[in-house]
Amino acid sequence: MSLDGTYDDGNIFARILRGEMPAARVFEDEHVFAFMDVFPQSKGHTLVIPKHSRARNLLEEEPQVLSELVLGVQRVARAVRAALKPDGIVITQFNGAPAGQTVYHLHVHIIPRWEGVPVGRHAGGQMADAEELKALAQQIAAQIT
Ligand code: AMP
Repeated sequence: MSLDGTYDDGNIFARILRGEMPAARVFEDEHVFAFMDVFPQSKGHTLVIPKHSRARNLLEEEPQVLSELVLGVQRVARAVRAALKPDGIVITQFNGAPAGQTVYHLHVHIIPRWEGVPVGRHAGGQMADAEELKALAQQIAAQIT
């Protein structure tokens, strides 16, 4: 899919938001929903998405929704840091298939990094164990302030 297109209500993140698909929930408020990435690029890889949005990517998003999303990302990233003590955190976001986007509901990746530990492949590799993701989500959730 290119940068242009129509929002698909059947995309996986829309289904998670509607409760039709499971997710290891980290945090939720009226604006954003944060949950563990099932194909984590590192331990603690978390996604943050706007709850009330039909933007496929950042370019399409309303300023107010984008503002709340960024604030949510900062809040969750701080909790990831407190919970997992990484040496660094990559915060990233892809727009359009050629850029690496695979799910077309705007989302931001929070990827903790440790010195000397290579990062995994984007949107690929091994699916994480659901119980492990749940435990990590709880660990991070406990640090939300
Ligand atoms: P992107 O490629 O930037 O669109 O990112 C989509 C991300 O969603 C990838 O990192 C996938 O591993 C992740 N993902 C796909 N399906 C799910 C799912 N059901 N639950 C959690 N994360 C998912």
